[in-house]
Amino acid sequence: MASKGCEESRPCDGCEADSFCSAREKEEHERARVNEKLFHIRHKIMIMSGKGGVGKSTVAINLAAGLALNGHQVGILDADLHGPDVPRMLGIEGRHLTGRGDTVDPVEVFSGFKAVSMALLGQDPDKAIIWRGPLKHSAIKKFLGSVNWGDLDFLVVDLPPGTGDEPLSVARLINGVDGAVIVTTPQDVALLDSRKAVSFSKLMKVPVLGIVENMSGMACPHCGESIELFKVGGGEKAARDLGVPFLGRIPIDPQVVIKSDVGQPFVTDSTDSLVKAAFFDLMQKLLDQLLSSEVGVAPAVL
Ligand code: ADP
Repeated sequence: MASKGCEESRPCDGCEADSFCSAREKEEHERARVNEKLFHIRHKIMIMSGKGGVGKSTVAINLAAGLALNGHQVGILDADLHGPDVPRMLGIEGRHLTGRGDTVDPVEVFSGFKAVSMALLGQDPDKAIIWRGPLKHSAIKKFLGSVNWGDLDFLVVDLPPGTGDEPLSVARLINGVDGAVIVTTPQDVALLDSRKAVSFSKLMKVPVLGIVENMSGMACPHCGESIELFKVGGGEKAARDLGVPFLGRIPIDPQVVIKSDVGQPFVTDSTDSLVKAAFFDLMQKLLDQLLSSEVGVAPAVL
């Protein structure tokens, strides 16, 4: 059998010995490739939500960019196959992952900050790719096993929305995840969505780092103070009821949409604002949780 002692680092597809290996051996080989590529990453954080449109990608890119601004080596993985928005939100749309043999290098957003997304593979961005169940799993596995992340302090994974097969498939492929951050909105339904996301994490045996309540109140465009536009507190209540940490509120600010549409992570803006402070506060709470057990790691400099 070719896979006994198979030293190949390349994917099984296209390997001459492919026909000698069982489906199980190929699965093991591909998983080993993923693990090897993720081996030099100190912390892996998954960002998830019970449904789409709650600001999951916004939180993911601002958390990742904030960590990189703080001097950490950071990667962001856009694991959404159907709506990969991260490249647009980071202003790297149109750039491509560069190939090296059977592997690819991430796109550098700025020094210390790398990004990977299916949308950076060079396909027509307007063309919908139809992914069917098993093909989806095998594509993401092949993809994850091909990325040269190198040494990273943090990998932030923007999971597909919801708690169905797709996020499950991605989450299962990434070993040794430190924890999941669950993004929700302030309404009562947040509790329902968060409950699903928390039980999803438990199913995955991934610790819940906490719940973030996004679009919570609004930063007044005139004075910058917070206005309680709709109801607030659903995310906090969900965290309390579910017995997981509450990581804070991020207000609505029209500038978030404007900056995201021009591909600039909000935290890189030089102007101080409630939202920027909220993102850095979130980052600090996560750093406190993740680094408290590590010896000799410098605390964040804000
Ligand atoms: P998801 O990843 O959950 O689908 P996105 O991060 O794509 O959601 O956000 C959906 C929309 O909401 C985007 O246009 C984004 O700019 C906007 N948005 C997210 N958070 C905020 C916020 N705090 N204030 C204003 N707009 C926001």
